[in-house]
Amino acid sequence: MALINCSECGKEISNRADKCPNCGNPINNIHGEGEGCFMQTLNVGCVITAVIIGIIILVFFFALVS
Ligand SMILES: [Zn+2]
Repeated sequence: MALINCSECGKEISNRADKCPNCGNPINNIHGEGEGCFMQTLNVGCVITAVIIGIIILVFFFALVS
């Protein structure tokens, strides 16, 4: 979790918050790391997760074939 500054009031808030708890300004960032990761194609952690999932699928596929 990271802290960002609210664009309205400048208060430090969690980037996982939907809106600023201080002034209610909605936070228009992408939801936290790991969640909705297939939408974040540039997220390195997500790419690694996708590769691992792909390898697991391939292993299962070849296990079924053989
Ligand atoms: Zn605010």
